[in-house]
Amino acid sequence: MPSAPPSRSGAASSATRRPVANPWRVELRELGRRAGSMQEIERTLPAPPDWRVELIGVPEGGEVRLRLRLESVMEGVLVSGDVAVPLVGSCARCLEPIEDSLELDVQELYAYEGSTTEATSEEDEVRRVEGDHLDLEPMLRDLVVLSLPLAPTCTEDCAGLCVDCGQRLDELPADHSHEVLDPRWAGLAGRFASAPGTPDADNTEEN
Ligand SMILES: [Zn+2]
Ligand SMILES: [Zn+2]
Repeated sequence: MPSAPPSRSGAASSATRRPVANPWRVELRELGRRAGSMQEIERTLPAPPDWRVELIGVPEGGEVRLRLRLESVMEGVLVSGDVAVPLVGSCARCLEPIEDSLELDVQELYAYEGSTTEATSEEDEVRRVEGDHLDLEPMLRDLVVLSLPLAPTCTEDCAGLCVDCGQRLDELPADHSHEVLDPRWAGLAGRFASAPGTPDADNTEEN
């Protein structure tokens, strides 16, 4: 009789595959609830895909550098420090690619369940400690996304594109223009050019 197919190895490998831990989650067991206790976090994490607005954002997988201090306070856990991210996008005026970076201060209270802060705040007004951990990602995402410019520019005074030829004005000579006159105006322009003098000029001569 043939032996049973070796299905055990497959089952074993899937059983040993551990679920991917959320890297933005901070366990608070170490910190404890004693006011004044502190924990420092330095992590570099890959950016999630949605840290962006229409024209600019953190590239997915880009390095998000965190330097945070978690402090146990009466009402919860105070998270402070800074976050640094790379940015890529395109100029709202000339569409040139933009590469930049952003560093932001972090200062956020995560309220304990049952704390006065939690009890007196609306659902979306305050972040919460969830059981024995807190999740840094939604807080950092809001912080980063809210500070992204809706109309980023490649340089502070980017002149945009020429409306006639679509080239970047910053790369064109200052006197760039298109000598294409509307035929209806071409005749007028010719008359002005050949006029012997303006009435103003005549008056000046008489005085
Ligand atoms: Zn530009
Ligand atoms: Zn042009």
